Amino acid sequence: MKCVHCQGTIKRGTALIHIDRGGCHMTIDNVPAWICGQCGEPLFEESEVQTIQDISEAVDEKSRLFQRSA
Ligand SMILES: [Zn+2]
Repeated sequence: MKCVHCQGTIKRGTALIHIDRGGCHMTIDNVPAWICGQCGEPLFEESEVQTIQDISEAVDEKSRLFQRSA
């Protein structure tokens, strides 16, 4: 596997994910990812992408509770 950005070599590691939805800012540490040794860009596998999307949608849904009560 090569980095899609710079064709550098990627290896297993963890990345930091930022989720900004509906005024909620969340950071998830230690997300399993492939990290490029050259540019540091993280690449996520399908299962991780799915989990990030699930969390993101949950944050989006729950943040509406604040908007409703405002
Ligand atoms: Zn790269």
